[in-house]
Amino acid sequence: MFALMQATGLESMHLSIDPSTGLKAVIAIHSSRLGPAVGGCRYLAYPDDESAVDDAVRLARGMSYKAALAGLPLGGGTAVILRPPHVESRAALFEAFGRCVEQLDGRYITAIDSGTSVADMDCIAQQTRHVTSTTAAGDPSPHTAMGVFAGIRTTAMARLGSDNLEGLRVAIQGLGNVGFALAEQLHAAGAELLVSDIDSGKVQLAMEQLGAHPIANDALLSTPCDILAPCGLGGVLNSHSVAQLRCAAVAGSAHNPLTSLQTADLLESRGILYAPDYVINSGGLIYVALKHRGEELPTITAHLSNIGVRLTEVFAHAQAEKRSPARVADELAERLLYRL
Ligand code: NAD
Repeated sequence: MFALMQATGLESMHLSIDPSTGLKAVIAIHSSRLGPAVGGCRYLAYPDDESAVDDAVRLARGMSYKAALAGLPLGGGTAVILRPPHVESRAALFEAFGRCVEQLDGRYITAIDSGTSVADMDCIAQQTRHVTSTTAAGDPSPHTAMGVFAGIRTTAMARLGSDNLEGLRVAIQGLGNVGFALAEQLHAAGAELLVSDIDSGKVQLAMEQLGAHPIANDALLSTPCDILAPCGLGGVLNSHSVAQLRCAAVAGSAHNPLTSLQTADLLESRGILYAPDYVINSGGLIYVALKHRGEELPTITAHLSNIGVRLTEVFAHAQAEKRSPARVADELAERLLYRL
């Protein structure tokens, strides 16, 4: 565990259990150099404890890089709650987690992520004020989707020479809080949607409401399209799956869709433009951070436009240096984080 912390530059890791509610949680704080660490709270079933720790650490690092590139005075952290097979009271479990957050005294501010809801954040808020995306603060997912939509336009411009999405084929993997809202915006812009989700009800809804074409889960990545938008979980792009891609660019909301930087190089060698995850999906973080600071919606929306600007900058460097945008974004973030 210490080797993993060292390799990723993690500041601290906090493990908590609460047998009375079934809580088993990991809070990873990657950096608080630029400000308190902000990042989502996942509530998922993991195959083992190591996978949960690994997920928390990788996500926390991404949050630090995301905040730095978004120009926010914040650090990065992430919480992972291991979803038990059976839970007596979900509310009690999230309240117990709220007490863990409170113990960190503001060094970590939690938020909604995969598997958690606004209602869960409300339970956490019973125990600590270091929580965002509550009912009062609002769900950041629509803002994440807005940022990804803007990022897809930027990516289309850079790779295909036009940001007109009319008729563009976009394959979306995962129609959750972000994926569905993104699908709605793409549909409104005239894009053709190819969608998959392990929840067939969500696919059905996208077919009925947005005229989306359903694609089998195991066929989505190899479906011919212009833009592939991974909006499910991470780790979907590895050397094997990248070889099967038939798209011009990858631009979606999922955190850590690539298994490694070598996968980013592989995309680059195949001429597939990659929009780095923590740049394109930063709309939610921008929303929760500014909302927590008491900013109004127009200020938040104005800040969201930085996503396209930053992405354009990353693509320009990548093209000039003939390197993957993933490597360029890491370097830019590290420069800001460590003042190199
Ligand atoms: P969510 O849990 O609401 O939705 C994820 C969806 O993906 C679910 O409908 C799930 O069934 C589906 N899915 C999972 N694996 C799949 C697979 N292999 N094939 C097809 N469908 C699959 O999560 P969300 O909030 O929409 O977030 C989606 C991704 O974006 C996550 O990686 C999350 O970390 C990231 N993200 C979310 C936000 C936010 O504001 N919610 C912000 C930044 C990044």
